Amino acid sequence: MSTEGFAPRIERAASSALQTLKLENLPFGKYFTEHKLVADHIDGAWRDVRITPYQPFEIHPSMSALHYGQAIFEGIKAFRTSDGGVAIFRPGENLKRFNRSAARMEMPEVPAALFLDGMKELIRLDQAWVPDFPEHSLYIRPFMFATDHYLGVRPSETYRFMVILCPSGPFFMEPQRIFVERHYVRAVEGGVGFAKTAGNYGASMHAAAEARKRGYDQVLWTDPVEHRWVQEIGMMNVFFRIGDTVVTPALDAGTILHGVTRDSLITLLKEWGRKVEERPISLEELTSAYDAGELREVFGSGTAASVSMIRELGFEDRSMVFDPGSFEWAKALRQGLSDIREGRVSDTHGWLQRVL
Ligand SMILES: *Cc1c(COP(=O)(O)O)cnc(C)c1O
Repeated sequence: MSTEGFAPRIERAASSALQTLKLENLPFGKYFTEHKLVADHIDGAWRDVRITPYQPFEIHPSMSALHYGQAIFEGIKAFRTSDGGVAIFRPGENLKRFNRSAARMEMPEVPAALFLDGMKELIRLDQAWVPDFPEHSLYIRPFMFATDHYLGVRPSETYRFMVILCPSGPFFMEPQRIFVERHYVRAVEGGVGFAKTAGNYGASMHAAAEARKRGYDQVLWTDPVEHRWVQEIGMMNVFFRIGDTVVTPALDAGTILHGVTRDSLITLLKEWGRKVEERPISLEELTSAYDAGELREVFGSGTAASVSMIRELGFEDRSMVFDPGSFEWAKALRQGLSDIREGRVSDTHGWLQRVL
């Protein structure tokens, strides 16, 4: 197989589950389309690029990703546009982030021709699965994992790259109650917080489960040294509107995931003439702003939920409550983003990549 062109060999599925499945309001992440994209990295090159039926595959018990966690992923959405076409939202940003994650985890890069052209080819083949209902989308999950059959601790010599697709309904998250986490940590300077690597998710689940036992939905992560500087909410970037300024943690420490939604919201806010600051934000700043009546909106951002409203930030000894019904900027952002993604307003930023 040539390493120049990555045109996949295609093996079609014999039958389609679409005849029995309705694409409206499907739960997120449970139903997959008929095909998957697969490529293997062997002897320093991506080989055998193929689209094959979505099926289980066998793995070796000593496969290194299972033991040492060289595993990264991305989350992207494709939308049915108002003219009946299909477009992917900013996949080039996800490709860049995927390769930054790969470099940090000592894994090989995936070229654009494999990542972007591969997912487009896959979506064209499974285009009937892109839902045509408002707020619905096709969720795209590219991922890569180490495949050596070897228990010695070293970077794997072989990897598999795959893309799978799932139709998903509107991800309306109820406004969330968030526990301000000052014991467990998500990310440290010099660590892997900026990488979309599987272990970050595995390592976050215990803190989230403890927060749920206290009656919360998720945690607000703070820095590992002083537990004073805010980082993210669960697996979303976080925004605060203080007075008429929106603040969000800066990316420079390497502890914050470079969210594509985060970047898109900042772009929209600036275009609308709103003041946005990317900088360190302390818990004292938030509590004093709250006490002064200036902390007006709190929301998270991510591909899956888009913009997610926060109705409470709780500490051991105090709590700050909000009325998400009054979050005008967050609501405008959610609507503005969805209008662009579904093609109801013109895509002046070049954020949509047409597939069909
Ligand atoms: C994926 C992710 C986000 C959101 O990134 P988007 O590109 O907006 O989907 C935020 N924080 C963490 C920790 C993530 O893993």
